[in-house]
Amino acid sequence: MDRRTFITRAGLVSAAAATGTACSSHTAPAALKVSKTNKRFGNPLPTEAQLGADGSLSKTAGIRTMYTRCFTCNNMCGLRVRIDEASDTVLKVGGNPYCEVNSGSPFPLSMPVRDSYVALAGNQGLENRATTCGKGASGVNCVDDPRRVTQVLKRAGKRGEGKWISISYEQALKEILDGGDLFGEGQVDGLRAIRQLDKPAVPGQPEFGSAANRLFATFNEEDTLRGSLYARFMRQAYGTANLVTKHAYCGAPTGIGFGIGLNPGLEPGLSDIDWDSVEYALFLGTAPGASGASLNRLGRGLADARTDRKLKYTCVDPLLRTTVANDTRGHWLPIKPGRDSAFAFALIQIMLSEGWFDAEFLSIPNAGVAKAKGEVNRANACHLVVMEKSHPDYRKLAKASDFGLGGEEPVVISDGQLVSADKAQKGELFTDASFTDANGQPVRLAASLALLKQEADRTSLSEYANACGISETEIRQVAKDLSHHGRRACVATNTGANSGDAIIMGWLIATLNTLIGAHDAKGGAIYGNGAYWGFEGNYNLGGFDGEVDTSEVINVCRAGAYEGSTEYQQKLARGDSPYPASDMWHNLVPGYAAGNAAEALTAHTNGNPYSAKALVNWRSNALYSASSINHKVEQTLADPARLPLFVAIDCYMNETNRYADYFIPDRVMFEEYAADRMWGAFNLGVVAGAPLVTPRTVKNAAGHHVCMEQFVIDLAMAMSLPGFGKGAIAAADGRKVDLLAFEDWHARYLANVAAQCSTLPAVSDEDRQWAALDYSMTPLRSRLNDVEASQVEALLSRGGYYESGERYDGDFINGGGGKLLQIYNADMAQLRHCHSGEYYPGTPVYQPNRFWNGDSWEQHWPASDYPLLFSSYKPTLRSNYSAAFDRCAELTPTNFVYLHSETAAAQGLKNGDTVRVISGNGTPAEGVVQADSGVAKGAVCVSHTFGHKQAYGADSRSIDGQVLEGLPHRGGGTAVNQMVPHDPTRPGEVSMLNDYYAGTNCRHGIPVRIEKVNA
Ligand code: SF4
Repeated sequence: MDRRTFITRAGLVSAAAATGTACSSHTAPAALKVSKTNKRFGNPLPTEAQLGADGSLSKTAGIRTMYTRCFTCNNMCGLRVRIDEASDTVLKVGGNPYCEVNSGSPFPLSMPVRDSYVALAGNQGLENRATTCGKGASGVNCVDDPRRVTQVLKRAGKRGEGKWISISYEQALKEILDGGDLFGEGQVDGLRAIRQLDKPAVPGQPEFGSAANRLFATFNEEDTLRGSLYARFMRQAYGTANLVTKHAYCGAPTGIGFGIGLNPGLEPGLSDIDWDSVEYALFLGTAPGASGASLNRLGRGLADARTDRKLKYTCVDPLLRTTVANDTRGHWLPIKPGRDSAFAFALIQIMLSEGWFDAEFLSIPNAGVAKAKGEVNRANACHLVVMEKSHPDYRKLAKASDFGLGGEEPVVISDGQLVSADKAQKGELFTDASFTDANGQPVRLAASLALLKQEADRTSLSEYANACGISETEIRQVAKDLSHHGRRACVATNTGANSGDAIIMGWLIATLNTLIGAHDAKGGAIYGNGAYWGFEGNYNLGGFDGEVDTSEVINVCRAGAYEGSTEYQQKLARGDSPYPASDMWHNLVPGYAAGNAAEALTAHTNGNPYSAKALVNWRSNALYSASSINHKVEQTLADPARLPLFVAIDCYMNETNRYADYFIPDRVMFEEYAADRMWGAFNLGVVAGAPLVTPRTVKNAAGHHVCMEQFVIDLAMAMSLPGFGKGAIAAADGRKVDLLAFEDWHARYLANVAAQCSTLPAVSDEDRQWAALDYSMTPLRSRLNDVEASQVEALLSRGGYYESGERYDGDFINGGGGKLLQIYNADMAQLRHCHSGEYYPGTPVYQPNRFWNGDSWEQHWPASDYPLLFSSYKPTLRSNYSAAFDRCAELTPTNFVYLHSETAAAQGLKNGDTVRVISGNGTPAEGVVQADSGVAKGAVCVSHTFGHKQAYGADSRSIDGQVLEGLPHRGGGTAVNQMVPHDPTRPGEVSMLNDYYAGTNCRHGIPVRIEKVNA
């Protein structure tokens, strides 16, 4: 390895290279000067530009610089990319200095692109630095990865054998459409035959829609621009309701739980921390920068808060992560995996009993009083709930009309009297008493906060402490810290508590922030302002004539209310009890919790309610990524008798798509258009980009590069589906424009987005040069009018659109507020569990983890057999698919089975031992022990994203008889998700392990034991 290779692989670049510029006292010729100046460094990359001693800046000849966004993880940070024009290759990836998540102080959009490079050069470059994290920077080789799939492939052996032949795109298209005896294994239906809109998916159960649903399709919905075209084909044109994604085994549990606490109704939500003013932060199941929002933004936010404002923070996590430093105002509390709700309830018990909460805020009875007090939110803490079982409003908020006090508004106790909430100035918080309604009937009413306190007090502090493994003293200190910084405090998580109580945990976190009045407060819990979408505007990309409406169809995951099903109605008609349902339904935020790719494959394997006839798997890897997915699902995918047609669309082979019959090569992130939201950004913003280099995928007969877009467009046109082809898109000016090729969709989507971006500057010729706009606009210009083209050009010139403005309005975040925070959520309290038929709780509840049938986990997996608790986590330098980036694999080649030293000793284990992690019924996972004091006692922690033994080029494959040898370094470490056990009480051959309410997938607090593997 030469020095340049070493330096760049290690991510240790010089300050000049890091900012993308080099200092020089000469002005020309630039390219010659660079190589001479840098000779002493060995073999440096050419820089983006040369900064002269006189301050002049000149572009490096042969180097193109462009903006796009990173899709190495779902944060979608902005990127500034350096490209060698002669070789058409990506040289280096940096951060976009206009983008909030790459830079603590982003440049204003009005700054010309050239000036941004001046500001990034020299000493000022340190101050203005825009960064990418290690995994984002490692994506530099994704375009020319030798194990990338660039040809159209058809399997030449059994599914999963790794034997392929290359075929023409046209042959693949025809066979996928028309079917036939494609592999000498018997007749296979093509997509044309499967699309039977006039036949039911399940005879006699119309809620499951048409037989077209027997096409299942997976994708990563986070890619809005490309994903929206894929969804247009699958849902609206083809007509399948089974377009499924990864949320249920990713962020949905947290988002659903948060949402229950934020507003009436049941919509997901997610808060972030106001890094600019926070004084105390409590991280549950994570550490700042370890997962969730952009590492670039969090890293800078944490560093500034810790050094500039002496932020104090506590991480409650089974694992000590690198970003928690005990001597720099951070404090780590090791918690038993999956026991977060015990800790959170203990905090609530202490805070409520000590009066450590914002009583003034919580006592506000109505919007008028909130406004008069200068509040932007209010809560329903003092509103009274009907607790009388015989009352028609049982479990709902009591209405003033029922007591002759007014209309539909709630009631409160004010000055000892029951009054309409609209007429009170203040409501009492701990009322629980009997009142007489307008009919003279006694009715028990309890304040929302009283119900929460009763639940928190049902368990003793010592029991909570014992359950979570954190002492009462430590818990008390956290409660004190959290409640003694006014509103400049916040509780945060992001997927770090996905256990059986995941939904409750999200709700508890929202509740803790409510108790201290932190929502939308300066220094508290804040909510990003989102992005602009491109579905409407100059072009109608949201709908089209003749589209199939699947909005009322229950998908294969049973995403909806059981009470609306044929099964329920038939049981009622027979006079039977409708409960339990014959299988799991997802009635809590079903669109988010049950568009679940892994649950869909589970239903397929069980054939309940039906199986897929075909699967199209685009950029998705449920077999690897979904915790608790059963290995028998894999066997089903490998069996053509059970899944007749399997089509993959991807740039890489992964654990799921390796079983495909056909492989359609796709564009990597540097070859695609983008217009997405960012996680970690507070201001409204769209991160945008255009292809940076020539796509490496083969071309079809028409001369277009093969990719997802071309494939679904050609499928649709061959089947004469609506919404695709000549004149398929309606323009606002009455024209109909074509949807025939890749750019046809993206040009119009970008035009719709750019038209909303009101403060984009006009682009100058100099901007064009410095952002290589001629390169990115050439394919788009002919599809846009002059105004649209200039707006899209402006959008691409800054790599997106980033609003700025006053962050605060007094003590609150500018533009925040409008929430009616739910200590008691009456909508949640009206839902029933489909097995027990019992109501869901209206306030968070402390319960043992339960299976679908109500049995506790302990009943089936007793501590005597499984004495340890497992937790997985996302490492900082890896994403699910970055194993394909060799720099990532080199920086973190493997993971470990982390144990506390005392736990290891008790098990007779030492560092370096190979062990097997065994759960109740999952597939055991083997890994290497690392024991130290940075893990909770009794915990087993293993990071996700490793162990890709049969993916991303780690395994060998043959194409047309040529063997591509596996690259073992890409498969280092242990994969853990199939070790996570499934629910033994759910019906069917396979199942998953779910939280009790929304049915999202669990990965924490799993009872396990470990066994040493004999050498
Ligand atoms: S945080 Fe994610 S999106 Fe942002 S640079 Fe890192 S890998 Fe890319």
